Amino acid sequence: MSTLVMKFGGSAIGTPAALTQVLSIVIHEHQRWDHLVLVASALDGVTDMLLEAAYLAQMSNQRGYRRIAATLRTRHIALVEALPLGQQERVGLLADIDRLLFEMLDVCQSVASSSTDTLSPQATDAIASCGERLSSRVIAGLLRQNNLLGVAIDGMDVIITDDVHGNATPNLPLTHERIQQTLVPMLARHIIPVVTGFIGATRQGKITTMGRGGSDYTASILSTSINANELWIWSDVDGMMTADPREYEDAQMIPLLSYDEVAEMAYFGARILHARMIRPLRERSIPIRVKNVYKPQGVGTLIQPYTDDYAPQMKAVTSVQAVTLSAARAGSITQVLGLVDQVFQATIGSPAEVTLSSQSSSSTLLCFIIPPSIGTEIVDTLRSNLEEALRGFSDTVSWRVRPATVISLLGSNIDRLAHLWGGIMQAISHYSLLGIAQGPSHCSLSLIVEPQDAEGIIQRVHPLVLKSASDNAPAPRP
Ligand code: ASP
Ligand code: MG
Repeated sequence: MSTLVMKFGGSAIGTPAALTQVLSIVIHEHQRWDHLVLVASALDGVTDMLLEAAYLAQMSNQRGYRRIAATLRTRHIALVEALPLGQQERVGLLADIDRLLFEMLDVCQSVASSSTDTLSPQATDAIASCGERLSSRVIAGLLRQNNLLGVAIDGMDVIITDDVHGNATPNLPLTHERIQQTLVPMLARHIIPVVTGFIGATRQGKITTMGRGGSDYTASILSTSINANELWIWSDVDGMMTADPREYEDAQMIPLLSYDEVAEMAYFGARILHARMIRPLRERSIPIRVKNVYKPQGVGTLIQPYTDDYAPQMKAVTSVQAVTLSAARAGSITQVLGLVDQVFQATIGSPAEVTLSSQSSSSTLLCFIIPPSIGTEIVDTLRSNLEEALRGFSDTVSWRVRPATVISLLGSNIDRLAHLWGGIMQAISHYSLLGIAQGPSHCSLSLIVEPQDAEGIIQRVHPLVLKSASDNAPAPRP
């Protein structure tokens, strides 16, 4: 029995044209595989709008969040109206859209009328979950209209998580059990489940979300649980790219990556895949393809295990936000690490992961990456929470907290590319670097830089990455 899981990102489903592509992809793959499972993100930009609605609700700005609900309604209705759907599907979908947006408005209303000063992460998750619940229904309706047995499934019914709202982690045994009970019997009946990405629920049934970009993670968990043969991630870019294609026009598609490389890329900020999705797939050696819905014939990026016979090669440059702590003194850093970890846990719900620490006799630098799944809005809050915690810290060292950007060069065995590093350092010689670290995984070299220098540095380094990739391109494995 062959099973394919396909996840469609927001940019791959946001317009009637994109959804028409999705439909033809599903029809095509339906003929080639015994079972298909689809995972849907919210339409492009919808999660941002929902988070904004949650914020406005907290500010008791009733007009603001209602306006957002109205915009979302108009957008989804316009999509449904533009699709070739029969009367019955259309009416059903319009009713679903209204029901889901009413539910979302209800949560906003109770946030607005509550007297607490902070927005509860629980309410935020309930509001943010609306986007995937809407999009999955539209896709399932479109499949049914075309004689496929599409059924929308809410992540809350299959993914059981801890209660870290906003960045929840699935409980794998419980989730596996749920998937076996609910999804697997559907597959046997030739149903194509369209599962909402990003969202799950606690054991008590409270809606959770798994971090920005979390639909990938949903797809990864489903793939391992149902033992899929492959997972395909569809977006509107050709695959994993040598640099962020929205900012660097000359970015090129990377044909082949190993799990380690791609995990490192996601950890260091490549936004196309969620960092935590790789591990479960690597454990089962389930290959991932990253493809463009507008070019379904394109090969895309294939991610699979590597063997050592690949030539050392630089493949990509990424960037991610970070905060640094520096002190004009050397000394024990154990205590401060504990404190930073507490602040990270409280502010973003995930541990502080040190990207680099370096000490000399007269100074100390610690650099903590902000996981891309947290989003970029949180940097200032994190920084001020850290400053505040450090003020009450009984150490004699005075720490300075500053935002930074970590630029990473990624590839296979890049520790064997010492000859290229000279060129890189020369290309960026007029920038001052706060720190450099070669990753223990042998596939990354990270530069810690001032945020304002990041763009210029990437501009200079990216051509060297492209050159290394073309000089050492491996022959794809059969
Ligand atoms: N819709 C969510 C987000 O925008 C999850 C996802 O798209 O993967 O982050
Ligand atoms: Mg994504």
